[in-house]
Amino acid sequence: MPKDPVCKMEISKENAAAESQYKGSTYYFCSAECKESFDKQPDRYAERAKKAAGMK
Ligand SMILES: [Zn+2]
Repeated sequence: MPKDPVCKMEISKENAAAESQYKGSTYYFCSAECKESFDKQPDRYAERAKKAAGMK
């Protein structure tokens, strides 16, 4: 299940309030606020999302 990279909430594609494309990956968000935060600092959040997925 994808995770909201901003607040770490697990979220299904069906329930995502927003999504964003970054470097070929799609990120899903629980709210428009989380998407806004991500869009401001995509590098920071994408990097953390990778680590959370087990790429240490
Ligand atoms: Zn969120």
